Amino acid sequence: MSDVNRRRVFLDEIVLGPVWLRRDGGIALFDGAPEAVDIMPSQALAIDPEMSRPIANDSSAWPDNDNAVATLSPAPHIGIAATSPLSMDWPQLQQAAANCSACGLCHGRKNTVFGVGDSKAKWLFIGEGPGPNEDVQGEPFVGPAGKLLDNMLWAMGLRRGENAYIANIVKCRPTDGSGRDRPPSPEEVAACLPYLQRQIELIRPSVLVALGKTAAVSLLGLDPATPVSNLRGSVHLYSDLPLVVTYHPAYLLRQPADKGKVWADLCLVMSTYAQAGE
Ligand code: SF4
Repeated sequence: MSDVNRRRVFLDEIVLGPVWLRRDGGIALFDGAPEAVDIMPSQALAIDPEMSRPIANDSSAWPDNDNAVATLSPAPHIGIAATSPLSMDWPQLQQAAANCSACGLCHGRKNTVFGVGDSKAKWLFIGEGPGPNEDVQGEPFVGPAGKLLDNMLWAMGLRRGENAYIANIVKCRPTDGSGRDRPPSPEEVAACLPYLQRQIELIRPSVLVALGKTAAVSLLGLDPATPVSNLRGSVHLYSDLPLVVTYHPAYLLRQPADKGKVWADLCLVMSTYAQAGE
């Protein structure tokens, strides 16, 4: 399938058609996405001043997380010991994650899921944690949610492994006592986040995209009850990097009516990237 057709499939899927194509094959204009056209360039790089109101949960990769939580202190660049992930190069970091036992999630994993993609990518997409498919394959975002994320990437003119990197807040699969997926606990997030922090430092992307609440509140150091709906539509900052929040693809599979909002978020990501001069 060509890139243009792939983008058309995604845009059709999220009910934003018809798609108008430029003669060079790019997507020039689409109808039916009022939130997308509401995004003005002036919004980019403006930090949302309201980011910590505790409101009911609304978006996560996991379906049963209404009372679950994942957050911790803000994403800091902290002083580190010689053995900290924050002092490692890329191969050391991969090896350390593969052998990590810094939290209890190591006990149930089949594989650590370090991340996938271009280690020099300009676009970094960050989800919550591995699910069963990811745990088996050792790669983030496989299965139906991964397919939807791939379609989102294609709609932006990206693809997995080419100028895009995909990672998670935690690298081992969190499950409850019944073996069901759950969000990572604050302690698990705190234990694992240095790996992601170091990945971000080494990749130096131009734009971060937080997929779902756990990624957003963990990276921004917000109240865990902050809903994604409060965080969408503005450009936040992680360290000095712009960060845009959107829904997790797994959530979209459960709530397809929100797919149109995701396209608006992706438009904000693209305008932010353009304003960053990339
Ligand atoms: S989730 Fe992260 S901190 Fe916990 S064992 Fe896995 S790699 Fe280590």
